[in-house]
Amino acid sequence: MNDTVEVKVPDIGDFKEIDVIEVLVKPGDAVEKETSLITVESDKATMEIPSPAAGVVKQLKLKVGDKVSEGSLIMLLDVAAAARAAVPQPAPPAAAAAPPGRTLPTGGSGAAALVPASVAAAAGADLHAEVLVLGAGPGGYTAAFRAADLGKKVVLIERHAALGGVCLNVGCIPSKALLHAARVVTEAEEMSHAGIGFGKPKIDVDKLRGWKDAAVGRLTKGLAALAKQRKVTVLQGVGKFESPNVIAVETPGGVTRVSFDACIIAAGSSVARIPGFPYEDARLMDSTGALRLADIPRRLLVIGGGIIGLEMACVYDALGAKVTVVEMADGLIPGADRDLIRVLAKRIEKRYEAIYLNAKVAKLEPRPEGLLATFEGEVNPRQQMFNRVLMAVGRRPNGAAIGAERAGVAVDARGYIPVDKQQRSNVPHIFAIGDVCGEPMLAHKATHEAKVAAETIAGHKVAFDALTIPSVAYTDPEIAWMGLTETEAKQRGISYDKASFPWAASGRALSIGREEGVTRLLYDKATGRILGAGIVGVNAGELIAELVLALEMGADMEDIGLSIHPHPTLSETAFFAAEMALGSITDLYQARK
Ligand SMILES: Cc1cc2nc3c(=O)[nH]c(=O)nc-3n(C[C@H](O)[C@H](O)[C@H](O)COP(=O)(O)OP(=O)(O)OC[C@H]3O[C@@H](n4cnc5c(N)ncnc54)[C@H](O)[C@@H]3O)c2cc1C
Repeated sequence: MNDTVEVKVPDIGDFKEIDVIEVLVKPGDAVEKETSLITVESDKATMEIPSPAAGVVKQLKLKVGDKVSEGSLIMLLDVAAAARAAVPQPAPPAAAAAPPGRTLPTGGSGAAALVPASVAAAAGADLHAEVLVLGAGPGGYTAAFRAADLGKKVVLIERHAALGGVCLNVGCIPSKALLHAARVVTEAEEMSHAGIGFGKPKIDVDKLRGWKDAAVGRLTKGLAALAKQRKVTVLQGVGKFESPNVIAVETPGGVTRVSFDACIIAAGSSVARIPGFPYEDARLMDSTGALRLADIPRRLLVIGGGIIGLEMACVYDALGAKVTVVEMADGLIPGADRDLIRVLAKRIEKRYEAIYLNAKVAKLEPRPEGLLATFEGEVNPRQQMFNRVLMAVGRRPNGAAIGAERAGVAVDARGYIPVDKQQRSNVPHIFAIGDVCGEPMLAHKATHEAKVAAETIAGHKVAFDALTIPSVAYTDPEIAWMGLTETEAKQRGISYDKASFPWAASGRALSIGREEGVTRLLYDKATGRILGAGIVGVNAGELIAELVLALEMGADMEDIGLSIHPHPTLSETAFFAAEMALGSITDLYQARK
């Protein structure tokens, strides 16, 4: 029996004489069925050609720079050697139990990374896109604009009239506008300690809402203009896959079918809900309802002590509501180091009516005078009446609501679409970015992934390989962290050292009356290279960016401690922490080691 098979370029549609830009295997390599063998590139896109069978590469029959068409010989493959080679089985690309995020091996798992325009157009669509983007949040609009800038014909589908998704319309931007208002109120209040009294603020809720909406409106209108300048076709309606190359969009004027060569799913996420609560009652709000700012309730219950719940608690507290937070876990904001959280907890414990940990709301009953909450856990009294309740228990990805199965796109049990480092799903010409493809659900993750997907489709050799995605809670004080946390370092047995600079020794922190902050650097014991950073204090979200850059550039404590930081600034706290690591600090007394 002949154990050697010839591996040839499969049917790649209309493409002929296209360039081999990469040979991904060499003689002697063991490959699995579906392992990518070569990458080819046309003027439209790139695609990887997978192996039709498992085996060991015997002889390569082409090289980078060769031109290939359907039937061109790629290699000789020893298929009998597969059994002898005992190649480990890769995880299935979209197993229901797979963790969210990047679970696919690079290159996807289908037969071709590109379906030519002629095939898609043949599907009898109303419109054709070289790149179709589903969802116009920060992921979607960034991907659409980048693809257009790279010369692609782009269609962007969004169900809402305004572009910008959750972030611009009901997330990052309106929440930060209200948090700014909250900060002005609390700063004015706290200046009474310095002898300046403004009296109780008069809050015109309608005007405040209008001001916040105006900021959002300016941004979303700006996006519409940017789409127009780039000739991106924006289609308003709900889009669902009809096949691997067509999305049907229910527009206000009827169904429009759009065919595509490549698609980027940027469908985002939705608010998660605890079942059995009276959602028909407008006094039970999600974050979108809370941002609407219908009124300022006398008593507000926030269910969920994560970032979104605590940011909204901060807003309503400053505006005059008595705030109670209930959290099932034993601490606020999971993910951040506990000592940073303690600084926030100490401040808000004084301001809020109550913070219940290890506790939950078992029942919520609408009454004429409010919503009656029945608590479980160490809560006293067990039953309490609130004028409004904010449900902030997390968000769920929208992967299961877009007809992905009709395109063959795998969606895991939680609704995430697993992707590889190029943001490819298991279907090679369909990509996913942002909240829908994994945690952390953050706008800056979505925009970076968007660029990777658009550039990959345009044939660039790129990957999502950020060393860290920073997290920020824009509470008062803010908490920001990046890279390794101390908790993770301990759990993973990583050898590290740390330097914590207390803001009580920062001239700038003292001059603004906010000396409770801490800036902490984690670094490699042997090399001094930065491993992670955590900051609690006002503007921590701005300060963390320098340390993200330091991590990405492989900076060590000397790099930070010898870079001259302007005085007096809060940015100096990173510099002082590095000086503490180096043992050269003079702004504090440090006992000799
Ligand atoms: C209150 C709040 C505050 C937040 N604050 C921050 C913050 O400060 N910083 C930060 O980084 N992140 C923040 N986030 C998270 C951030 O908003 C998300 O991570 C980000 O918006 C994700 O971007 P995306 O493009 O993946 O999805 P989204 O912004 O969710 O956009 C998806 C878009 O797809 C559309 N869509 C979905 N399905 C379809 C369909 N079938 N047809 C047509 N259109 C569809 C949706 O209408 C939506 O516009 C916050 C979120 C909330 C709720």
